[in-house]
Amino acid sequence: MERLQKVIAHAGIASRRKAEQLILEGKVKVNGKVIKELGTKVSENDKVEVEGVPLEREEPVYLLFYKPAGVISAVKDDKGRKVVTDFFPHIEQRIYPIGRLDYDTSGLLLLTNDGEFANSVMHPRYEVDKTYVAKVKGIITKEKMRQLAKGVHLEDGKTAPAQVKMLSMDKKKQTCIVELTIHEGRNRQVRRMFDAIGFPVQKLKRERYAFLDLRGLSTGDARELTPHEVKQLH
Ligand code: URA
Repeated sequence: MERLQKVIAHAGIASRRKAEQLILEGKVKVNGKVIKELGTKVSENDKVEVEGVPLEREEPVYLLFYKPAGVISAVKDDKGRKVVTDFFPHIEQRIYPIGRLDYDTSGLLLLTNDGEFANSVMHPRYEVDKTYVAKVKGIITKEKMRQLAKGVHLEDGKTAPAQVKMLSMDKKKQTCIVELTIHEGRNRQVRRMFDAIGFPVQKLKRERYAFLDLRGLSTGDARELTPHEVKQLH
């Protein structure tokens, strides 16, 4: 038995707060009867309807995916480009990515069909550390590295302090590899941060997301999160 608002949120159609609102507004029926009581427990066999639409109850699924570059972090693309869900034709649940990585960025991306989980992982209050490895054009000076760590000015405001580490440099090719850990998740943030100090990113990979990393996976592979990992992220 699970609480009604949790079941609605798990179905991915609303956050738990929105689900509670729907219940209070009398928009939710259980076995044909309007239920306005928050916390009503329902079982697998109960028929839940939200605004007249039967809820499809799906087994929750949580995947850690090593996204290749050249793939869209979406469930469909108007231009017919490859999307992340193309990698999971065998999964019946309607999974979607939690947040996104740019088309050209590879690395760790979580996918789920659990709306409540997705909302809570992405909520700014629980913003998790994300570690990226960037290959950039040019050799970044110590001063510029410090600037990156302290925060740079982007058009949507100054970035929060970050951790930066020079991993290697190739003086001949005039490129370097830098590790950057941030907890914010603005659109194209890492690329824009490097642009802001004058060193454009040539290649970007997300290596870690909270305590998760890509160990054991090759590009295009995925694994299920363990129940313990799901709990730790929630
Ligand atoms: N920052 C970026 O610039 N791109 C990503 O895909 C993720 C973070």
